[in-house]
Amino acid sequence: MSTAPAREHAVGTEAVTCAIAGCGPAGALLGLLLARAGIDVLVLEKHEDFFRDFRGDTIHPSTIEIMEELGLLDELSALPQQRTGRLEAVTDTGTATLADFGELDLRHPYIAFVPQWDFLDLLTDEAGRYPTFTLRMGAEVLDVRRGGGGRVTGVSYRDREGGTHEVDATLTVATDGRGSDVRRSVGLVPVGYGAPMDILWFRLSRSHGDREGTFGRITAGRFVAMIDRGDYWQVAYAIPKGADAELRAQSIDTLRESVADLMPFLADRTHELRGWDDVRSLEVQVNRLRRWHVPGLLLIGDAAHAMSPIGGVGINLAIQDAVAAANLLAEPLRRGRVTERALARVRRRRWLPTFVTQTVQRVVQRRLLGPVLQGERPGAALGPLRRVARLGFVRRLPARLVGVGVLPEHVRTPVLAERAPDQSGRPPVGA
Ligand SMILES: Cc1cc2nc3c(=O)[nH]c(=O)nc-3n(C[C@H](O)[C@H](O)[C@H](O)COP(=O)(O)OP(=O)(O)OC[C@H]3O[C@@H](n4cnc5c(N)ncnc54)[C@H](O)[C@@H]3O)c2cc1C
Repeated sequence: MSTAPAREHAVGTEAVTCAIAGCGPAGALLGLLLARAGIDVLVLEKHEDFFRDFRGDTIHPSTIEIMEELGLLDELSALPQQRTGRLEAVTDTGTATLADFGELDLRHPYIAFVPQWDFLDLLTDEAGRYPTFTLRMGAEVLDVRRGGGGRVTGVSYRDREGGTHEVDATLTVATDGRGSDVRRSVGLVPVGYGAPMDILWFRLSRSHGDREGTFGRITAGRFVAMIDRGDYWQVAYAIPKGADAELRAQSIDTLRESVADLMPFLADRTHELRGWDDVRSLEVQVNRLRRWHVPGLLLIGDAAHAMSPIGGVGINLAIQDAVAAANLLAEPLRRGRVTERALARVRRRRWLPTFVTQTVQRVVQRRLLGPVLQGERPGAALGPLRRVARLGFVRRLPARLVGVGVLPEHVRTPVLAERAPDQSGRPPVGA
């Protein structure tokens, strides 16, 4: 990976073909795909590292396939991970299978739970093997720069010492997540669709006798997703929207007792929650931009559409957006001119998958999770679902929607740059 400044353009200003704001899944993969295609790319990430314990770790079958297309399947498989072939909901009366990836004709019929920092390290180490890739950590994008006619011509950013810098770019891509600073700086506002819940996010250790695999526990008033992370459970505990402050005003015992009551096998370890500092809050948002671009700037991933956590699809949609953007824009970028029409094509390509996924999430929120969090028994909503699930192809729909999504993308960008030997320091795969 290049650590030297990119081409000097004017005093204090550097010039690149593509500047990417934010190095989450979307920014990291887009940077890799463009660098492979020989395009000069600078990725700016405000944090100093990828440690994101508070983030999701789900790598779905469609993303695994993309990693295979990139020749990174062995490296991905070598990362620490747990795999699950089906998603189940445990109710008071039994267990319902929500999605069984084994029933689909998939090359990789499982979700891999991979720590997001390992996944991002893998993508950026690989990108760093191409000479035109630069990742700058501790670089916070402050604003966009504008040229003639208001076209976005790059960004300004602050480095870790507090110095400010300017970057000229043929194209700027905002992949800076759901609180996107870049989006704000160009005045785009997503349409919000609301959500009946927020999430408390915490860990509890796993014991040998615990059930295997990831599952959901649902009963009147409560819903919890239990993600099996090997030696611990990553717990996503749903609460009614806006209830966080009220809950935190109470003793942590309230949460401990609720968890023990819902899943008695955890009763011996709820004390691991020493206080509310061990519990993070995620404000659930579902929103979408009407326009994903302005001249010179494209927004993708969470910056264009925040997803509900239902199905754990946010990372995978961000990845698919990055592949679509690279497929559609690598050639115009190589030619040095990206028109508005080319940028609009990215949204056109990715609108349907985003719309369908969010619509299904909203239906599940409205019909199942919202009423359950208000105290209704889940049976009323799960009953018809169970009956529908007996119909062959319908039964496979949730697995297809979660695991593959609508209009899955495939890597079409060429490899035009020479790849340097591995300098990541990771042991060779299989060693
Ligand atoms: C608690 C939690 C749990 C989640 N669980 C799951 C899950 O299980 N499965 C799933 O698929 N999704 C999950 N998600 C959602 C998922 O994390 C996102 O959908 C996904 O990461 C979006 O990728 P992205 O690249 O678009 O944005 P992000 O991953 O949000 O990345 C944005 C990056 O931009 C950086 N950044 C922000 N502002 C600036 C700036 N001004 N300058 C420079 N850099 C900047 C950020 O530091 C970050 O690295 C979860 C989210 C949260 C918060």
